[in-house]
Amino acid sequence: MASVETVRGPVELSDLGPTLMHEHVFVLSTEHVQNYGSTWWDEEARVADAIVKLNALHAKGIHTIVDPTVWGLGRDIPRIQRIAAQTPVNIIVATGLYVYEELPQQYAYRGPGTLIEMPEPMVTDFARDITEGIAGTGVKAAFLKCCMETPELTPGVERIARAVARTHLETGAPITVHTSGPHQTGRNTVRIFQEEGVDLTKVVIGHAGDSNDLDYLTGLADQGVLLGMDRFGLDLFNPTAERVKTIVALAARGYAPSMVLAHDANCFIDYWGGAHDQLRPVAAPNWHYEHISDDVLPALLEAGVTQAQLDTMLIENPVRYFTRAQGGAA
Ligand SMILES: [Zn+2]
Repeated sequence: MASVETVRGPVELSDLGPTLMHEHVFVLSTEHVQNYGSTWWDEEARVADAIVKLNALHAKGIHTIVDPTVWGLGRDIPRIQRIAAQTPVNIIVATGLYVYEELPQQYAYRGPGTLIEMPEPMVTDFARDITEGIAGTGVKAAFLKCCMETPELTPGVERIARAVARTHLETGAPITVHTSGPHQTGRNTVRIFQEEGVDLTKVVIGHAGDSNDLDYLTGLADQGVLLGMDRFGLDLFNPTAERVKTIVALAARGYAPSMVLAHDANCFIDYWGGAHDQLRPVAAPNWHYEHISDDVLPALLEAGVTQAQLDTMLIENPVRYFTRAQGGAA
């Protein structure tokens, strides 16, 4: 039986259950926390808080989260291992790079056509995370992540996207891309991945749900990719009522097999520094793990989406995404 790597090791795909396809546990800058976090970052309290929040999510019937926290968002696998040991929720982790424009200096001078001529070091690093494990923890990344935010492609972003595509070809791992709904950067993503020979059915166009443009969304889905309807609670980018309306319209046209759901939420994000706990309930009151279970699923059912279509989005599509092609690398 096919399985997928999680923080606690391989889990049978048939055991994933209802899955949110884009949730972070923490979003942090390691350097920011180390230098400026002494008054507001309490490691033990935050770990305990994350366990409580994940257990509450499990009680709502969600059994798995897919966490695309890579370098640039503060990936720290030993911390996530402590949390995973104390919650029944499966946590699937990623490799890749979260940058909007420029390559980190650590890759800029190494690689084909650079100062230090060598095979693409990103492919080497990402593939090792997938096949051997991350930073000596033994925890294996199960998918790849990159960003396509700005309307014009920068050389750095393109190099990362092509490195992610090549790692996908080498390992068989699927891909999630942070895209911009307003800039419709899913189109550039599909173009580059097509050029690289990526299996588009193994690609989530993350944050597609920030857009309500049905032509844009169906155009992407018709190429085979999954649409990440994955920022429920971030009303600033698109209010819940609009997000629901768009899913209802797409489901009515037969696109349930092309959509996955999530909040892109987290237990703590350091973008607000120490003001996190005060600001979040005011700035984004519904931006938490339970909004979909509490509010969105009932609203979708009310608007005519069937339970079978919800199961497709929450269970069947994630399983298909993480199912490796026959003969593909493990
Ligand atoms: Zn995210």
